[in-house]
Amino acid sequence: MEKHSPNTATTKVRRQAWHSQSEQDIVQQLNTNTDNGLSSQEIQIRLERDGRNIITGQAMMPAWKRLLLQFHNPLIYILLVATLVTTILGEYIDAGVILLVVLINALIGFMQESKAEQAINSLKKMLSSNTTVIRDGKKQSVVTTDLVCGDIVVLASGDKVPADIRLYQCRDLQIDESTLTGESVPVEKQLGELEPNTVLGDRQNMAFAGTLVTYGTAQGIIVATGDNTQTGQIASMIAGATQLETPLTRKIHAFSQLLLWVILVLAGVTFFIGLGYGLPAADTFMAAVALAVAAIPEGLPAVVTITLAIGVRRMAKRNAIIRKLSAVETLGSTNVICSDKTGTLTENQMTVQKLYAGGSALEVTGSGYAPHGEVPDIWKENTAFQHLLRAGLLNNDSRLLEKEDRWLVEGDPTEGALIACGLKAGLDNASCQQTYRRLDTIPFESDRQYMATLHRFDEQHNLIYLKGSVEQISRRCRQQLMSDGSVVTLDHDKLDEQVTQWASQGLRVLAFALQWVDHHEQTLQRFNQHEGEANLIFLGLQAMIDPPRAEAIEAIKTCQKAGVQVKMFTGDHALTAKAIASQIGIASDTHSDFGAVLTGQQLSALDDEQLMRACREVSVFARVAPEQKLQLVNALQSHQLVVAMTGDGVNDAPALKQADIGIAMGISGTEVAKEASDMVLTDDNFSSIEAAVEEGRNVFDNLIKFITWILPTNLGQGLVIMVAIVFGLTLPILPVQALWLNMTTAVFLGLMLAFEPKEEGIMQRQPRELKQPILSREIVGRIISVSSLLLLGAFGLFQWSVAQGASLEESRSIAVTLFVVVQSFFLLNCRRLNGSIFTMSWQTNPWIVVGIASMICAQLAFLYLPFMNVLFQSAPISASYWVVMVGYGIAVMILIELEKMLWRRMKR
Ligand code: ADP
Ligand code: MG
Repeated sequence: MEKHSPNTATTKVRRQAWHSQSEQDIVQQLNTNTDNGLSSQEIQIRLERDGRNIITGQAMMPAWKRLLLQFHNPLIYILLVATLVTTILGEYIDAGVILLVVLINALIGFMQESKAEQAINSLKKMLSSNTTVIRDGKKQSVVTTDLVCGDIVVLASGDKVPADIRLYQCRDLQIDESTLTGESVPVEKQLGELEPNTVLGDRQNMAFAGTLVTYGTAQGIIVATGDNTQTGQIASMIAGATQLETPLTRKIHAFSQLLLWVILVLAGVTFFIGLGYGLPAADTFMAAVALAVAAIPEGLPAVVTITLAIGVRRMAKRNAIIRKLSAVETLGSTNVICSDKTGTLTENQMTVQKLYAGGSALEVTGSGYAPHGEVPDIWKENTAFQHLLRAGLLNNDSRLLEKEDRWLVEGDPTEGALIACGLKAGLDNASCQQTYRRLDTIPFESDRQYMATLHRFDEQHNLIYLKGSVEQISRRCRQQLMSDGSVVTLDHDKLDEQVTQWASQGLRVLAFALQWVDHHEQTLQRFNQHEGEANLIFLGLQAMIDPPRAEAIEAIKTCQKAGVQVKMFTGDHALTAKAIASQIGIASDTHSDFGAVLTGQQLSALDDEQLMRACREVSVFARVAPEQKLQLVNALQSHQLVVAMTGDGVNDAPALKQADIGIAMGISGTEVAKEASDMVLTDDNFSSIEAAVEEGRNVFDNLIKFITWILPTNLGQGLVIMVAIVFGLTLPILPVQALWLNMTTAVFLGLMLAFEPKEEGIMQRQPRELKQPILSREIVGRIISVSSLLLLGAFGLFQWSVAQGASLEESRSIAVTLFVVVQSFFLLNCRRLNGSIFTMSWQTNPWIVVGIASMICAQLAFLYLPFMNVLFQSAPISASYWVVMVGYGIAVMILIELEKMLWRRMKR
């Protein structure tokens, strides 16, 4: 990251009260030009002078503080007390080892947590944003970090304000400044000069970096970038540490907490039982510490976080960027995916195929955005078609670009298709724009469903072109333009017939209209005020295809098999939606009395009870307004369903927030939608949602696998120590040895389960219920069985070797090694929760092999290196014990596989 180096020039700039100066002053001072913007050379110079437009922000919590936080853990406290007591008792080696382990443990935890955090943060950086600017006299889209003071910025609803901007042009602009001022209602912006002492929240002629445009459009001059912006100067505002907490980690934390108290009580009881046997207080104290150390699963919280982080990385590889860690676990439980149609389920590759004007229709050939294809020449003698095609070019904010022989749209694909069609007809876009200069615009908004532009026509007239959904346009028209330029009454029935025919083929149908106004009318203000009673002249239709994505069809099938319902939400026509839905395999409940498609209008007529039913039975929702999306999410959630919902517009933000998993579109989505989401799709593709669900299920599987594996280690050790104490026997495992066991096995063995690839058939089961306990009865039974087998093996072998005359050190080493051996074999069992492990290859997760090999090396060191013998009071063990232990490990493994088989039989 580049650092911003403040110099005198920028420091001076910062202090200025931009809101109290006139537009001309600012233009002059920043040496810019509102018509043409800055030149490329000038931008380079300013970039070098001022640095990039990046808010460096306050460093997150300093590293030492985070390291220290690692010690804020009850177990660590116990260990520190133990260190103290052992020191007082003169057991310096023990004290040193405990302290060392505490330190290493904290360090590992610290490193792993930082890594998980980094993984998530770097993903956020992958989501770079763009800004529309005017430079070199042209409107263009540039990376937000490349903006400089003096740049002319064009803002539209859905944008995140990229820097501090003084506005000089503004239409109905509303900005959500809650991140800056805390004010939750969007503020309306207005032009004009303000008093110098106006407070931040009242500076109506300014837009501030990081705030969100919720409505309207504007243009302005950048007056501060990067750290010089208001946001950049408020340290506390910078999003600090990434949230690593999720519902699951909270649950596990609560569980650990409970466990801790249980164990502390048990340790206390142990202490008194020991005293009751008349043992020395120091010994009983160490026994109590051993119990606490042995029975607390220290590795659990860290491994849960790491497993989630690995899930995040896997999802990113499949084009789903997680913004909130909790989404990783919720994804696995998703019951319903509510997806947009346009662009998510379809390609968003629009091509106009049919035209309708003056009562007749034409076919257009060609595909994609390349202007290669034909519009039959008759349009040239037909006034209605002339206007229709011209309106397609003029009522348009997008551009076509040719890059390496490929034609691409910059802007809205729907509009791109209209340009391509106009070019095919032979119209010249540039000269059209010049002849009929645009005077004003009402931009397209999803809930308005049309866009209006005002153009200069001739000496006497100006002209309003309107394009939008058929319903919104036709209800404003009573007349239509004919081929000879005459105006007749619009035949709504005939129009509906044409629309029905095309929409049923899955075509996206756009309607056009015009209105003549006096040449004095220079803005759309009057139209805007009276648009409800507007009386326009209907022009015609342009119908385009937007083919379904092949991958989406597959992904929908997969979801349906996995018990995940897919619903389509669209602003498009009901029949278009229905046609596309049937092409991609989304079908509503055939017995439903609501029919196959519900429109927004029909939805709003339903009462609550009907809505509750409709949201389940119907799968295709057309012409829905964004606030209805929110309603439907709520209705679905009240059925206890976990809902994933996609969105791209500003007005989708509430629904995205309400959904269990809000999904924003990385390419076509607005910044506002991204900001409200839990996950962003870098390819806007439905199949990436399915992939994320799959990965989410795998993450959960791996977590359960890990928990199943780790708990017996602790429970088994705890039991061994308890039994020894209750029966007044020698401790088979010492506190330092328990520490050794817990630390090494969790890292070398257990962690490897986080890399387990997904099980086949993972998308053939039903979604896991969120409220379902983490561990099933089956798993709890298995944990208890393995713990008992560990108790039996370790205690039995310990007693046996003592009876054989082995030294206490050797016997203890045998008990510890038994845990290592049995847990290594049990690790293999845990690779599958229900299925047999004998049919799987080690190659699907080589980490298991690496882990076991490392564990063996570590354990050999523990047993055979003299200094380790000193540190851990261990001793070499003879080969015959190894044979017995491996035999016992294999037996345990086979037993568990038999147990799984029994469960499988029972379930069938
Ligand atoms: P979706 O993205 O789900 O298809 P939108 O809200 O984008 O829905 O569009 C709803 C309707 O508004 C479309 O069916 C179309 O008729 C119309 N529409 C879409 N884009 C534009 C646009 N750029 N200008 C005018 N009308 C549009
Ligand atoms: Mg759209």
